[in-house]
Amino acid sequence: MSAHTSLAAPTDPYQQSVATYWDTEKNPVNLRLGEVDGLYHHHYGIGPVDWSVLETPEHAREKAVIREMHRLEQAQADTLADHLGDIRPEDRLLDAGCGRGGGSFVAHQRFGCSVDGVTLSEEQAAFANGQAEKRGVSDSVRFHVRNMLDTGFTKGAFRGIWNNESTMYVDLGELFAEHSRLLQRGGRYVTITGCYNDTYGLPSREVSTINAHYICDIHSRSTYFRQLAAHRLVPITVLDLTEAAIPYWELRARSSLATGIEETFLAAYKGGSFQYLLIAADRV
Ligand code: SAH
Repeated sequence: MSAHTSLAAPTDPYQQSVATYWDTEKNPVNLRLGEVDGLYHHHYGIGPVDWSVLETPEHAREKAVIREMHRLEQAQADTLADHLGDIRPEDRLLDAGCGRGGGSFVAHQRFGCSVDGVTLSEEQAAFANGQAEKRGVSDSVRFHVRNMLDTGFTKGAFRGIWNNESTMYVDLGELFAEHSRLLQRGGRYVTITGCYNDTYGLPSREVSTINAHYICDIHSRSTYFRQLAAHRLVPITVLDLTEAAIPYWELRARSSLATGIEETFLAAYKGGSFQYLLIAADRV
């Protein structure tokens, strides 16, 4: 199939609204960070901040802060790739909800294998395919406008699948049914996601505000494990990245790229209602 094949995406008005959001999205926090080295990520970041960037002389400060935020989002993409397991050049990976493709290029660089990315957004797929051309890897890294709940790819085609901040746009039962179909036995699934904390109770005001801001539906921690277990996906690693996620938001809140949602994320994490998790699971 051609790289631009549209297959049943989007399938309902909600998904159409997600596609429109990403088709028209030109947020500096998503574009200027990618311009640093051509790896465009639309997720957050993890790890300690080098706060000395805020002491950079005024004329160079914004650039230094952007580089630092990009370093943290790159660290998140690398951490995810660390958990994909033993991937060989002949294997195939799926980047589910791929955005502008940064994570797919990270995985291709690391493993030398082919990667397919799927997004609901025509703009994102076209942009990411352009990046693949630029990097000379369009034979092995391809982006498609497809619904990750119904990709049309062959059963068992993939050794690994990941979702980096894209599970909150879908029903997890439907998503993991499709992942389970697409993964080989022994294949690996990895997600990095925000989830609400069952020990807090139902979604807090902050979690609800994040849902309204991004038009998404953050799931509970328990929903992840229930739906993984129901779809032959057996967790092997669970990392609570909540503490590691906070410095990124503190830096972003003090940067020129703040979008207004920063204090909500910080209050959600610090108040215990919201958690940032990496979950890796094997398909059995
Ligand atoms: N994983 C990327 C992008 C995260 S942004 C990154 O780390 O940079 C969320 C992405 O999920 C967007 O690209 C959006 O199009 C995609 N998405 C949401 N619902 C989807 C669905 N049903 N099928 C495919 N992609 C979806």
